[in-house]
Amino acid sequence: MSGREEEEGGEEYLFKIVLIGESAVGKSNLLSRFARNEFDNNSKATIGVEFQTQVVEIHGKEIKAQIWDTAGQERFRAVTSACYRGAVGALIVYDITRRSSFDSIKRWLDELSTVARMVVGNKCDLENIRDVSVEEGKSLAEEEDLFFMETSALESTNVQTAFEVVIREIYNNVCRKAL
Ligand code: GDP
Ligand code: MG
Repeated sequence: MSGREEEEGGEEYLFKIVLIGESAVGKSNLLSRFARNEFDNNSKATIGVEFQTQVVEIHGKEIKAQIWDTAGQERFRAVTSACYRGAVGALIVYDITRRSSFDSIKRWLDELSTVARMVVGNKCDLENIRDVSVEEGKSLAEEEDLFFMETSALESTNVQTAFEVVIREIYNNVCRKAL
């Protein structure tokens, strides 16, 4: 692996991205869907933080996205805020069937300002028990000048796209401006 950069003569990019939001909104499943194309119905609550690295190609450049999955519980707050350090992107996730998880989005937003932030309304496969409308999600994102997308980790809807939009935005803002 280590000789690769010289062989190809290209730069390497490593973007740290964090997944935040309340417990059980689907953060771990969004990550496993994106990184391994897997969904786990019985996923245990994440303890502390863990990350996965996924390589994405943007404008012909290989970008390593290091995505940190955090636990939403208050008792892990110390661990999670340490994990924000150095993050350039964030997906702030709520569950479209649980209004309380949407209401807490602003609190999560206050905790970090990264280059690219996207509000993600997950579980859009559960239309029949929807509790937050698409419009509400959109207007919150507009107010705060953020990207917005509804996803389903279960049905694999928009998961790839959501991560890629964030990664592309980071690339456009950080790497190209630096040139
Ligand atoms: P986390 O605590 O935010 O990491 O959430 P998890 O990924 O552990 O998911 C919490 C629960 O929601 C689990 O029972 C998942 O099976 C379920 N879940 C996650 N994503 C989806 C989704 O897109 N659709 C549906 N229907 N359930 C989901
Ligand atoms: Mg989790």
